[in-house]
Formats: sequence, C-alpha cells, structure tokens
Amino acid sequence: MATDVVAAKESAEAPRVTEEPSWRESSWSYREFFRKNPYPMWIWDLETFRFLDVNDAAIAHYGYSRDEFLAMTVKEVRLPEDGDQALKDVVANDKPGLVYWGAVRHRKRDGGILEVEITTNRVEVGGRPANFVMLNDVTERLNALRARAETESVLAAVQRVGHIGIWYRNLMTGEVIWTDEMYRIFGRSREEIYAPIDATSDAASRYTYAEDVELVKRTLEEARRSGKPYELRHRVVRADGEVRWVHARGWYEYDERGTPSRMIGTLHDITEPVRAEERLAYLAEHDHLTGLANRTAIETYLQSVATPGGASDSRLALLFIDFQGLKAINYTLGHAFGDRLLVEIGRRMTAQHPARGGIVGRWGGDNFVIVRDDLGDRSGVSRFAKNLLGGLSAPYAIGGHQLRLVPSIGAALYPDDATASEDLVACANTALSHAKEITRDKGARFFAAEMRQAAAERLATEMDLSKALLAGEFRLVYQPVIDLRTRRAVSAEALIRWQHPERGLLGPESFLEVAEQSGLIVPIGAWVLREACAAARRWSALGTPLRVAVNVSAEQINREPIADLVRTVLADTKLDASMLSLELTENVIVRDAGEGRATLQRLRDMGVSIAVDDFGTGNNSLAQLKHFPIDTLKIDRGFVQDLGRDPFESAIAQAIIALARGRNLTVIAEGAESREQVDILASLGCTLIQGYYFSKPLEPEEFERFLRAQSQRTNIFPKFSPRSKPINARGAFSRPSTTSSR
Ligand code: C2E
Ligand code: MG
Ligand code: MG
Repeated sequence: MATDVVAAKESAEAPRVTEEPSWRESSWSYREFFRKNPYPMWIWDLETFRFLDVNDAAIAHYGYSRDEFLAMTVKEVRLPEDGDQALKDVVANDKPGLVYWGAVRHRKRDGGILEVEITTNRVEVGGRPANFVMLNDVTERLNALRARAETESVLAAVQRVGHIGIWYRNLMTGEVIWTDEMYRIFGRSREEIYAPIDATSDAASRYTYAEDVELVKRTLEEARRSGKPYELRHRVVRADGEVRWVHARGWYEYDERGTPSRMIGTLHDITEPVRAEERLAYLAEHDHLTGLANRTAIETYLQSVATPGGASDSRLALLFIDFQGLKAINYTLGHAFGDRLLVEIGRRMTAQHPARGGIVGRWGGDNFVIVRDDLGDRSGVSRFAKNLLGGLSAPYAIGGHQLRLVPSIGAALYPDDATASEDLVACANTALSHAKEITRDKGARFFAAEMRQAAAERLATEMDLSKALLAGEFRLVYQPVIDLRTRRAVSAEALIRWQHPERGLLGPESFLEVAEQSGLIVPIGAWVLREACAAARRWSALGTPLRVAVNVSAEQINREPIADLVRTVLADTKLDASMLSLELTENVIVRDAGEGRATLQRLRDMGVSIAVDDFGTGNNSLAQLKHFPIDTLKIDRGFVQDLGRDPFESAIAQAIIALARGRNLTVIAEGAESREQVDILASLGCTLIQGYYFSKPLEPEEFERFLRAQSQRTNIFPKFSPRSKPINARGAFSRPSTTSSR
C-alpha cells in the first residue's frame, strides 16, 4: 500500500522524470532500492547538470524538497569556491562502471555544509547520458576524526610541554606502549626501548640512576602487593649520561585470578623544578660571596650537633675568626677589592679544614666560623688556632697589592663551655672580643668560664663608673718621691682610688681599663687633674710647696685637647705650671709622632714637665725618645724589683740610668721596696726614689701631715748613705693606705 502511494505521489511530483520512460519503467525493486536507500542518491543530466531524480535520504540530508531539487542543477549544491573541475571530470569520464570520487563539500538548503563521499556511475536516462550518484554523508565522522586528532595533538602537546610521559606495559606479553614524551625523557630511541626485556623488569627501571634502583624496586614491589597506586621521585640516566629527575606514578592491574597483568603510569620530568629547588636550597645555606656555609647553615649545624645533654666525648670546637683592617681596605680600595679578599680568606680557611666533619662558614661581614669535632681538648684547639692564625696572617696578594690582615680567634668548646648552641656561640663571641680587646694584636683566645663572669663585671663596672664621678666616689692618694741626698720629698704622684659603695676601696687596676675603653677616662682624668692641682695649690698655701705628678692615659690624649685642659685647670686652681708634671707611658709619647710631639711641646712651653712613666716596658729605645720634649724618666717597677736578683735586669737599669743622666733627664726609680734595692739604685747614681720603702701612697690629710712634719723636722727619713744600715726600714709614713695597695 504504502509503496503504491509513494509511486503514485512520485508520478505526480516528478513530472520531469515522466519524460524518461526507461527510468520510470525500471523494476519496482530497483525503484524501491533507490527511494528507500539510507544513503542519499540522485541522478543528474550530464549535459544540463539538472537533477533528474533524488531519493528520500537526499531530501532528508539536504533539506530541499523534491521539487526544489528537480528545479536545480548539481552545481548549485556545490560550494562556489570548490569550482567546477570535479564535475567536468565526471562529464569527461565516459567509462562505464562505478567511480569513487572521494569526499567533497556540499551546501544544504539551510546553508550548512555537508561533507560527502561520492560514488558515481554513468547511466543513460531516456537515451541521454546521466550520472547516478550515491552519497555518503561523512560530516560527523570527519568531524569526529578531526576532533580526535585535535584532542590527540593537544594531549601530545600537554605531555611535551608538561614533560609528562604516559606508559603502559602488559606483564603477560611484555608489550610496552610509550608516548613520545617517554622517549624524550629517557633520551632513547624506540628501538632501544623495545630491545628484548623480560616481562618482569621494565625499561624504565633499567635506566634508573644506580643509587635509586633499590628505592624504585621497593616501591613497585609494595604497589604490586598492595594493589594501591604508587608515587615516587627518582633519577633516570639518559643515553647521553645526563641524570634527570622524574616524578613517577602508576598502578598495577590484575586479572580475574588476581595476578598482576598490566601496569599503567605516568612519568613527569621534574628536573628543572628540582634543580631550581636545589639551587634555592644551596643559596639558602651558602654565602653567595665565598660559597662557604652561611649563618643559617652554621646555626642549623650547631643545633644538630650541640645539644644539651649530648655525649661529652663528642667534643666540638667552635671558632670565631675576625679580621682587623678589612674595613679600612673596603674603605680605601673599594668593596669589590674587599670582596676578593674575603673570597681568598674563605679559600685559606677551607684549605685548613678537612672535608669530613665540621663546617667552615661566613657568619657575616668579616666574621668567619669554623666548627671542628676532631681537635680534642683545649690544647688541640690551641694548636689548630695557632696554625690557622699563621695561615691567615700571611700577606694577601690581590690586584698588585700585598695586604696584611690581623686575624683574631675566639674559641669555645662544647660541652665544656656550653651545651646549648646559642650559648656556645655567645661564648665564642665573648672570647673573640677578648682576643681583640686584650691582645689588640693578633692572637687566639679561648672562652674560659670566668670570662662570662668577667664580661658581666665589666658591664657592671662601666655602669657604676658612669655614676661614680657625680656621686663623689673617687679620691686621690699621694705617694712622695724621695731624694736620697736631701732625705726630702721632691714631688708626689697623685694616684686614683674608687670608694665603691658595694665593692669597697678599689685601685686603678680594677677599673681603669674599663674607663679607658668606655671613654669615661676623659671626665675622670679631668677631675683627677683638677683635684691634684687643687691639692698642690693647698700644699703651697700651707707653706709646704711640692710638685704634683698626674698620670695621663692614651685615651685622654686621643679624645681631648689635653693642653687646653691643663691651661684651664692651672688657671682655675691658680697653680704655677712648674708645680705640675704629667706622666705618660712611652708608647703614648711616640705613637703619634707629629701631633703628639706638638702637644707635649705646648705643655712644656707652659712650664709643665713631662715624665715617661713605666720606662723600659715599651719597645722604644732612649735614642727614639730623644726627639720628644721630656724631662723625666720613671724606671718601671719591674726593673727596680729585680735589682740584685737578676743581673741582666740590673744591667738594663744601670744602662738606663747612665743614658738618662747623659741626656740631662731626671730619673726616678719606681717601686723600691727594700733597702737593698735603694742601695743599688744609689750606687748606680739614681737618687730619686718612689716606693714602699719610703712611703706608700697616702690619704690627702695624711700626706699633708707628712709635709708638715718634713718642714718642721729635717730628719723625717734617716740620713741615708749607701751600705749603711737603715734605721727604720719601713719609714714613718708607710702605713698602707689602700686595701689594694701594691
Ligand atoms: P704608675 O703611674 O706607675 O703608679 C705607680 C704605681 O706603683 C701605683 O699603683 C703605686 O701604688 C705603685 N707602687 C709605688 N711604689 C710601690 C712599691 O714599692 N711596690 C709596689 N708593689 N707598688 C708600688 P696604683 O696606685 O695601683 O696605680 C697603678 C697605675 O694606675 C699607675 O701606675 C698609673 O699608671 C695608673 N693610675 C693611677 N692613678 C691614675 C690616674 O689618676 N689617671 C690615670 N690615667 N692613671 C692612673
Ligand atoms: Mg705614674
Ligand atoms: Mg709607673
């Protein structure tokens, strides 16, 4: 029924075809095949290009009605830009039989594009050449293919860009599938990878970095047993020997019997990020300039090895090394130069350090650190430090300069000095500052437990000192200098004492160094000068005039125009300049030859006399001193006390006295305590003596009583002649005046 309708309809709707009796007369089954065929089909006239008939599938695919089709030519379903050549070829091809023309593009009624594969066959319709066309709409298939290709190329690109390889391995057959990126990661060819490998070992582990093989094996074994995915980071070796880092993930699949049948995984080349990480880690732990461990690394190391309660047999030496002179070099020759020097220092340090155990580092600036665990006790550390000092003080030849640096070393031992790493660092640092301060020269110094105590005391002393002047806790005591010939005092030295509210009476040895280093010596020294001049002025007023000697330390000269101060004080106290003598040590005198000499000259011009204190303890010959305006030499107590005991020292004392006399210098011998010493001094021609033998330093009132007694009685000291027996070995005024008298 339905077919009749179709046939009837067809005869009505396709008037053109009715002109073609042969086609219209074709068998029912053939028409049926044409009409109902799922593939679009049509017949067109090879001369007019007009459609002669179309089937339902063509109508459905193209959207034209049958009438519309029959009013069109085949040219109209083609895209103009594709041209007519294909049609011309069809027309030209007069061979009978099926011809496959491949895919072309056709336009649908709605403007959409169809991609169709065309198979044609030359036929005759009503005696005219026509073309029977069978079309296969491949639009979707091609689109799908294109999409897949697109997806695959995107995936491949992702793998390439992300350095992620994907692999598959059949454990039964040994078959392996690798994506391209896998080959790139391993830097190996397909042939190499497919070279026979047994099913249980895989290509990837064959190229695993030797040190990581165990880890890879263990991880895979664990994944195989547990059935869980694995993940690990390891290294692989490329064909060219380059080692690369990969992040591997994968899992096993099992057959129904539970036997592992295949493996699937990814391999991510993470070499670049790992190298960046390594670089960052390196930078985080190394000094960028010298390549030595930096402060963070040193601290981390110390924290790991120096632990409270650690075994005491694992001794550790921490050495802090510092250089004097580096700042000046940076300043004068430039920082780039200073940097080269630091690099060279680092190199020398490393040269002294065996690779195993310990660490060499730069703490910052010109501060270096060595930690060693193989030096043993203090004597071992000491030997090492001495060697190190030797190495580091040798001249540095850089950029045509020969430079010398003065290294100092502070050392602390774990666990002897401290058990916590920060404490150990503090100890070594304290030792270093002691090494720098006290030796003021090259030297190694170790932390000793007392040092911390000493450092705390120093600080306390400094704080107390700053208040002492205002609180009126200082006073002066006076020690006379006796002339053996007259048995009378010719002068008195003013010596400072500190009545500390808690610590009692302190001598200069307990606080002068702190005062000098802190700069407090300047106001203290000014007070001493004023106080001593005032006392001497009073002695004159009492009718017992006596010259007063005041000690001046280096720092006072450095930090203050001392000559101006002296002038002011003399004016204020109305003391005659000839009644004042200033005592300076020889090093202070010769140190700053130009300016120092000018200052001394100004003082001398004022009428003040200058004495060289502690003569013989410095390194200067009398010949050097002759260029300086000085009046008096005070022979150091050390020589005097060795008189009669050490023939060599006696000879020196004798030479000094002879030379000084030859130069018209006054010589005072300090620290004579015994009759024998006085005898010898007298026999050497030194008649001015300051020492306990005659008098200890006296409190001001006591000293004034002494002066009064001297003016009233001439025989306050017994008449002295060499080798005669002393009448009163201790003298009348020898009562100790300080708790710390020497
Ligand atoms: P100095 O200037 O060489 O003073 C002499 C030191 O020798 C004094 O010690 C004195 O008490 C001590 N002395 C004197 N005779 C004898 C003796 O027979 N035997 C012994 N064992 N010692 C004796 P003092 O007072 O402790 O002073 C020590 C140093 O402190 C002084 O050495 C001086 O360099 C410094 N000094 C003292 N007072 C001042 C001051 O006011 N200013 C400055 N800048 N330094 C001062
Ligand atoms: Mg003195
Ligand atoms: Mg002295």
